[in-house]
Amino acid sequence: MSQSDLFFDAKQEILELRKRLEQYNYEYYVKDNPSVPDSEYDRCLNALKTLEAEHPEYQDNLSPTQRVGGKALSAFESVTHKLPMLSLDNIFDDDGMQDFERKIQDRLKSNDPIDYVLEPKLDGIAISLMYENGQLTQAATRGDGVTGEDITQNVKTIKSVPLTLRGDDWPKTLEVRGEIYMPKAGFNALNEKAKTSGEKTFMNPRNAAAGSLRQLDSKITATRPLEFCSYSVGFYEHGTLPDNQFDTLHQFLAWGFRINPLMEKATSPSECIEYIDKVGKLRESLGYDIDGIVIKVNVFALQERLGFVAKAPRFAVAFKFPAQEEMTTLNDVEFQVGRTGAITPRAVLDPVFVGGVTVSFATLHNADEIERLGLMIGDTLVIRRAGDVIPQVVSVVLDKRPKNAKPINFPTYCPVCESPIEKDSDESVYRCTGGLTCTAQMKRSIEHFASRKAMNIDGLGSKIVEQLVDTGLVTHLDALYTLDIQTLAGLERLAEKSATNLFNAIEQSKTTTLPRFLFGLGIREVGETTAKSLAEHFKTLEALSSASFDALINVDDVGPVVAEHIHAFFANEQNQAVLSRLLSSGINWPEIKTLEATHTDNPVYGKVVVLTGSLTQITREEATELLESMGAKVTKSVSKKTDWVIAGEKAGSKLTKAESLGINIADEATFLAWRNN
Ligand code: NAD
Repeated sequence: MSQSDLFFDAKQEILELRKRLEQYNYEYYVKDNPSVPDSEYDRCLNALKTLEAEHPEYQDNLSPTQRVGGKALSAFESVTHKLPMLSLDNIFDDDGMQDFERKIQDRLKSNDPIDYVLEPKLDGIAISLMYENGQLTQAATRGDGVTGEDITQNVKTIKSVPLTLRGDDWPKTLEVRGEIYMPKAGFNALNEKAKTSGEKTFMNPRNAAAGSLRQLDSKITATRPLEFCSYSVGFYEHGTLPDNQFDTLHQFLAWGFRINPLMEKATSPSECIEYIDKVGKLRESLGYDIDGIVIKVNVFALQERLGFVAKAPRFAVAFKFPAQEEMTTLNDVEFQVGRTGAITPRAVLDPVFVGGVTVSFATLHNADEIERLGLMIGDTLVIRRAGDVIPQVVSVVLDKRPKNAKPINFPTYCPVCESPIEKDSDESVYRCTGGLTCTAQMKRSIEHFASRKAMNIDGLGSKIVEQLVDTGLVTHLDALYTLDIQTLAGLERLAEKSATNLFNAIEQSKTTTLPRFLFGLGIREVGETTAKSLAEHFKTLEALSSASFDALINVDDVGPVVAEHIHAFFANEQNQAVLSRLLSSGINWPEIKTLEATHTDNPVYGKVVVLTGSLTQITREEATELLESMGAKVTKSVSKKTDWVIAGEKAGSKLTKAESLGINIADEATFLAWRNN
């Protein structure tokens, strides 16, 4: 290839990348509907930056590398910012941090340590709030950095935006800048609602916040869970402010703004990296998305001396965390069979590093979800994984659909036992009709029966269950109780000692409680709470198993659908045979006495109780069981309906709330003393 060909290729590549990035910018900033994840956008932008640096002859100040954000929407009045609202340059590692400091010191011609302020980088929308005489007069988006959109009416609906400033020592004209964002919980609820009503979902909390802010009807914005957090000062006059970022934000706090409580100071790159690691570990537990840490020079006079480059200040930088959204290919869809026969499709992906782990599978929930997403095998997908959350398929990048993409056919026969699959009339669930003749359902049923909250058989994990069913040793739940040590020791990966332990665990599980046993049976829709209500109501298995439909719907938590499932379960002869064999193998539980007769003499009898903080003498679960045996109803959150809060060590917001509502509070020792009543 000749030199001129090389240049020609570079120019083509530059033009193509610019075109692609412009399209991405339009989708992201104007439509609030990106088609690719940020990681893909950043890869293209970095490739363009590199090519432009190598080929200065193709520089263009309209290039996406030179410009901030997107165009203002014409639907809103435009606002010219008194001071430009810029973006931030990114760094990704320790070297980037060292480099940032070195450039600052070079520019300041000094090796003195720099005071930095470190703040979480909230993943939302940059907003400018203008106050005149302490009153909010205008709220604007960043737009292209010079001109933004006037979204005052919408922003006024956000409770954490002060409409009037507290105190009276603010500058007469004051521009406060910060981020409007949507907390994770609100985002999840909004998307769940959109899914059930068949509406379009948002890719992530940032897009949801952007879309919510740019509603033409502020009544819609008012219904969206948005928050505002301030992070810098813009234009101000007729008044004074502290001479640095840290104190200015604390001044904002006094005037009624929220600032991020994780903000800290540092005086060296290594301190900055320590903070970044610390907050990086907290990232998943925060109630809102952050995509990095912003590192700012603290002193304003130094900030001024450092100034700006085209689209970002020189005195601040964003340390970016690993992406939580990535693109990958859908290679196949597998269909898994659950305990109740429900068929769950699972995406088989080209392994991709996202949210800190390599992801090879993602759940597709059900047939409706496949249809909603419009998936085809061979498609490029956007995968999101935030912390412990199971990887989700967010969308399909339609532009990248290959010509040979294949439709996904939902199976009509069970992939495990080949029984016909039927659709539940009232749900979007497809089910294998094989019942417990289907080995997949059998395996899941045993796992459930053995699980901690059911029969609690320690050591009976899925690998062992797999072998027990596949070798035909266990074809019904009760067969578990016929296994001897020798048989167990014959299984792969089970040495004599583990086999003995497992045998003992199976033996021990025979002594249980009626609610645990009922829960373990895996009757459809009968969870832990319903199992407890049923046991409480009917007291004996005989009474429950012969209960009529009408008697069943009289139980707390039991509606007509659940009642139907329970009734059908006990009406089934095979189930009755399994039950009787389970009981003859020695499974037993203490008799459930009527509450009135035994447990009335304690302060929580018939009361609503909340547990909070850490207990030292018993576990949370034991405490719940104990309270229930004392006739209390244990709930999770404190409200006016709560009668008692049992507060362990380090109790937090629930205790504070209980105190403010004047609810009775007892510590662990007091509570444990009641059981002797
Ligand atoms: P940026 O998000 O990387 O950084 C600048 C922004 O950080 C500021 O405008 C401000 O809103 C925010 N910020 C949050 N906390 C802050 C704090 N404490 N102090 C100061 N600022 C704070 O830059 P950008 O120019 O807003 O946007 C670029 C981002 O948008 C990238 O992550 C890019 O991947 C994404 N993007 C994606 C697409 C796409 O198609 N997926 C298209 C365009 C842009």
